[in-house]
Amino acid sequence: MLRVFILLSAPIPASAITANAKDSASKVGNNSFTRLWARPATLQIESYDLFLDVDFRNLRFDGKVKIKLESEADVKLNSVELEILQVDANGTPVKYNLEGEDFTIKTGKFAGELNVKYRGSISDKLVGFYKAAYDGGYVVSTQFEAVSARRLLPCVDHPAYKAEFKLAVRTDSDTSVISNMPSTSVKVEGPRQNVEFPKTPRMSTYLLYVGIGKFEEVKENFNGVDYIVATVPGKTSGAKFPLDVARDSVKFFESYFGSKYSMPKLHLIAVPEFAAGAMENWGAITFREIVLLVDKDSSIRIKKQVAEVIAHEISHQWFGDLVTMKWWDDLWLNESFATFMAYKATDSIFPQWVVWQDFVRGETAGALDRDSLVNTHPIEAKVNSPSEIEEIFDDISYGKGASIIRMLEAYAGEDHFMRGVRSYLEKYKFSNAAGNDLWNQIEQSSKTRVKAIMNEWIRKPGYPVVNVKLDGKKLMIRQQRFLLNGSSEPSNWPVPITMKINGKEQKLLMEKSEDSMAVPEGVDSLKLNLEKTGFYRVYYEGLYDRVWRSNLSPVDRYGIVSDAHAFTIQGKMEFSQYLALLDRYMNEQEYLPAFEVSDQLSSLYAITGKVEGVSRRFHRTQLKILADRKDENSIVLRGSMSSRLALLDAGYAKELASRFDDYESAEPDMKQAIVVAHARSSGDFEGLFENYKNKPSEEEKSRFLVGLTSFSQPSLNSRALDLASSGEIKKQHVGTLLGSSTRNPEARAGTWDWITEKFEWLRGIYEGTGVVSRYLTYMLPILGIDRTEEVTEFFAQHKAPETTKGLEAGLEKLRINQAFLKRIRPFQKQVGDTQERN
Ligand SMILES: [Zn+2]
Repeated sequence: MLRVFILLSAPIPASAITANAKDSASKVGNNSFTRLWARPATLQIESYDLFLDVDFRNLRFDGKVKIKLESEADVKLNSVELEILQVDANGTPVKYNLEGEDFTIKTGKFAGELNVKYRGSISDKLVGFYKAAYDGGYVVSTQFEAVSARRLLPCVDHPAYKAEFKLAVRTDSDTSVISNMPSTSVKVEGPRQNVEFPKTPRMSTYLLYVGIGKFEEVKENFNGVDYIVATVPGKTSGAKFPLDVARDSVKFFESYFGSKYSMPKLHLIAVPEFAAGAMENWGAITFREIVLLVDKDSSIRIKKQVAEVIAHEISHQWFGDLVTMKWWDDLWLNESFATFMAYKATDSIFPQWVVWQDFVRGETAGALDRDSLVNTHPIEAKVNSPSEIEEIFDDISYGKGASIIRMLEAYAGEDHFMRGVRSYLEKYKFSNAAGNDLWNQIEQSSKTRVKAIMNEWIRKPGYPVVNVKLDGKKLMIRQQRFLLNGSSEPSNWPVPITMKINGKEQKLLMEKSEDSMAVPEGVDSLKLNLEKTGFYRVYYEGLYDRVWRSNLSPVDRYGIVSDAHAFTIQGKMEFSQYLALLDRYMNEQEYLPAFEVSDQLSSLYAITGKVEGVSRRFHRTQLKILADRKDENSIVLRGSMSSRLALLDAGYAKELASRFDDYESAEPDMKQAIVVAHARSSGDFEGLFENYKNKPSEEEKSRFLVGLTSFSQPSLNSRALDLASSGEIKKQHVGTLLGSSTRNPEARAGTWDWITEKFEWLRGIYEGTGVVSRYLTYMLPILGIDRTEEVTEFFAQHKAPETTKGLEAGLEKLRINQAFLKRIRPFQKQVGDTQERN
């Protein structure tokens, strides 16, 4: 599914969310959740025929479902918060038992039709069949992944039990109803209407969709498929860009996958309240408004995200919807693959964006960071409960998985990789498969040892750092697990190493922990991990001079500084050495390495509250370089760097804030920076809040939310956080506010206080999702600085099982940051002093 965005140009990675992973049900452990889920081969579902009578005004529904199936024993369905009224088996009433989510119907061996009548309520949470409010009304919409289809209908809520779904909905006639298929009949009877949909292809329960509300639509037909953007009233002006991207993405994937899109139409639905980013319901994709609708005021930064998210969800229409994982432990494969393919499609549609640069910065870097903790997990993770499924929709399942797939493609060859994917989709369409099924196909097409290599990467947590040094005419290479806490652990991976020595490219599959290769006398230049296609870091022992002599691409320059930053936090590289290395980037001309250094300095500023000197100098120099550039990536970078500089440079903030009076005509990518600058220099809380309330677009709202936590006065930042819990801002915006306040050193103490007071409330609004878990991972390493004990103690007393993994990772990173601070604090004083001269 979905990606959730922790907004903005931040030390916090741009991607944060979703997916979980692993391998078939038979391998899962013994607790009741997994037993419930072990797949009985003796049960076959053919179809669900579902009728919903929805009381839109009073948020209730009556349901009737006819399930055609065959079973060797009593039928076990799942059902949550549904009141079961009556159950028939082939027309005869039959006994049943409801225990937890387990709904057992005492049929014994059975073939035929089960009829269940039931009743339910439309939820206030953001999962199941829920109410999504907007100014002036609401829609009701479904979000089922992973295990919430059972909140709408009793069903075998397991991805491997595919079935056909036929739907009819009776509801208010002044609404419209959207589902996976286009409606074939709408009969209006006074204030009520009956809407019918034809049966779907065989698909998994989590992909079913129902949305009801006063939707407005923009439609376009291309190659026999209707592309439709649906929004709440008054927002269709943002539909053109997403329609174009959707059409071009489908075209790209039909050609790449070698098979047609399966459904007669494709809806792109802007849902006004959404916990995640987007969801790939087959033929009816749902989005947060901010990652779908684009108007003249949208920034290029957001357009790039919109394109990537649409392409991600559309690639799922094949990889995920047409062929689905057998069980949630392979969810990573869905998500990694969609993540990877989204960049492929976007790169083909918008070559000027060079999006593989964003891939390494967003996906690979986020995953390398998350996976350098002891508290990580293998890509293929065992999941033992629904909340564990939600928690592993994370940087490992998305970013690491996608990076490993990119590494595999580079190793197997682009064409062989594509042919393997095509035969996988052909072989398993309308059915289910596991990771090994894909590796087998790519192995056959490429005649390389794909399966063995991939399984090593997927089943082992972490990744290696490759150390290289020269010993006469030998290049000595050693690998070990990279851990950010500085400990070492012998472990090795099959690493496809690429390198350039004296300008000549070479390849090596390194399988042992140590290796060596003959090199010419007098190595003048070398660089490993070309274009950062490998999921590992490289440490050059005493060889950095030779690295700089290589002809380095922008991605290579990025890779060196990205690894150096990690070595510095870890303690392997001296802070002084790191700062000296940064000097080489002060006049950086390229988007990716410049963005990376900006990310690093912002992150260091958030952690240490210092390094302003270097950061100010860097950002001011960069803004001069970028001043006259017109290309889209430079425009994005300029906006992001301006926001960052406004946060740490009062003089710059004042200068930029003067443009607030002419805000409406500012370049969209500069608007965020102008709002931050205005907040810094004016403390205009009321003005910013008014704008938040009155601006119609989600991107505008988010700009002012960020402004509301960018004040230099701590009390104003705290006031903004109080808005969150008072219900004056949307639930889906609470996260934006938290992400932003975490990055502002003047909001940090207030944010921590807020968390301690509102933690239970926060858990409540995101119940059933992994959102809080992921926020803790990103926030605690900064919020907890200089209060590690207090933070640890707080969470020891406030147990929240659904955040276990995220909390452990967040606390570990906090301890690492704290150790880093201890090392550099004596030194930092001097750095501060020197910087004052600049
Ligand atoms: Zn996805």
